[in-house]
Amino acid sequence: MQKSSLVIVYHRQPYEEATVNGKRVYRENKSPNGIVPTLKSFFGRIEEGKGAWVAWKQVAAKQQEKFERVIRIEDSYGSYAVSRLPLTGEQVKSFYHVTSKEALWPILHSFPWLFRYENADWNTFREVNWLFAEAAAAQAEDDALVWVHDYNLWLVPKYLRQIKPSLRIAFFHHTPFPGPDVFNVLPWRAEIVDSLLDCDLVGFHIPRYSKNFADVARSIRNVEVEQAVPVEPGMSPVGMALSEPEAPVRLTHNGRTVHLDAFPVGTNPELIGELIKGEPSRQIQRTINEELEGQRLIVTVGRTDYTKGMKETLEAYERLLERRPELHNKVKLLLVSVSAASGMKIYRETQREIEALAGRINGRYANLRWSPILLFSNAIPFDRLIAYYKMADICLITPLRDGLNLVAKEFVAAKEGAPGTLILSEFTGCAVELPQAVLANPYSTRAMDAALDQALDMPESEKAERMAAMYETVKHYDISRWANHTLERFGDIDGEQGAAPMQPLSAAAAPVGE
Ligand code: UDP
Repeated sequence: MQKSSLVIVYHRQPYEEATVNGKRVYRENKSPNGIVPTLKSFFGRIEEGKGAWVAWKQVAAKQQEKFERVIRIEDSYGSYAVSRLPLTGEQVKSFYHVTSKEALWPILHSFPWLFRYENADWNTFREVNWLFAEAAAAQAEDDALVWVHDYNLWLVPKYLRQIKPSLRIAFFHHTPFPGPDVFNVLPWRAEIVDSLLDCDLVGFHIPRYSKNFADVARSIRNVEVEQAVPVEPGMSPVGMALSEPEAPVRLTHNGRTVHLDAFPVGTNPELIGELIKGEPSRQIQRTINEELEGQRLIVTVGRTDYTKGMKETLEAYERLLERRPELHNKVKLLLVSVSAASGMKIYRETQREIEALAGRINGRYANLRWSPILLFSNAIPFDRLIAYYKMADICLITPLRDGLNLVAKEFVAAKEGAPGTLILSEFTGCAVELPQAVLANPYSTRAMDAALDQALDMPESEKAERMAAMYETVKHYDISRWANHTLERFGDIDGEQGAAPMQPLSAAAAPVGE
């Protein structure tokens, strides 16, 4: 078996599976958007054929013996191996739906009162993480770079070090990372921190999260912050809820160096611009415009999750309709709350709450010609979604806590600098990049009311000015900048370990995000 120099460990598979004429086929993801295409583009930066991806796939226990674990995929990103870790339904439920989502998720998002020790099955979490580590190590050359993604694989670095100590290990968090007061609620805190300290590089979206990690690590182990650097101008302006003047970039522990990095994932404004200008999107935009009949459109988009603050958003909208009857028949809130397919109780409750609130508000205010809320509970295809962004007056993104929030950046990209207002919670990671948004505190009803009034009454010139500034930022910190920045950080750890550096982006490499 050909071994790989880059192994990406991510819980999702890097393609869409379908059955055509009774045959299993693997297709490139329909949506050109999202993190999967970006991660796959890294295979374009290494020797052809030397990339591997490890993900889980639910396979019944009886079928696991016959199951073909490793397949080779050839697509526009090149040829790479995909190692599918077969997990039973029970394992998926315990590892993913229960321990990850019901025990770890509330802590990561600073909802410690939702954490329940009894909800977690730590032994299964360990077991599945071990299986991931084994699968990744089996694909990896001795000095390969293994890039592990997200909190549900927190223990993989520690197991990889045990199985193959010479590997280079990088980790990226797609979520927030809380400070020690919240993180240390986790009874397994030392085990998790030890595993992350076994990495060569630990990445986060923003400096606050890397600072929080360093504080957590120092509260649990003898860890020195060897180097901290001022945050780059414009990335974390003073005075915001998630501002941080300095970011730690190098820790030492037991004689080992651990690099830290904070750099927010971007979106792909070029691709969004092309889609928006294309005829299919123009057609959708015309239809939306006709259907709106002059009403002002407010959009809110997110996964159904209590962290996304949809309930607080709907309540603010209800207060707006109470406070300002002149807006009746003149505004419409398009709320996309995409329910997770997992059947988790907490998400079912959140969805029910959103549906009940939307129903109540429509019930109070709707008439034959107007309903104040249009609720979508199913995912909207990306090209349609950005047509809505383009036609919207206001994008209302007010999570109680969110690692980054790509929807906010996509809205700015779809507007291409044309007037429009982004109302953004101070507790989303991207708020530190977009201080020109109308920043709102979702924990304060007064602040939410003031933000909505400010956005609705904002003069055109101010809207244009704010949006132009945000568009510049979104274009600058786009997805390819994140990928190039990450490659540079990989370069730092290559140098230390004497391994062959990864190729810089070459003309032959698939462009990021396509
Ligand atoms: N999205 C989509 N269709 C929908 C709702 C969301 O394509 O109906 C996409 C959206 O464009 C964004 C992603 O899903 O790219 C959500 O990412 P975000 O960072 O905002 O939230 P997350 O779900 O990762 O917390």
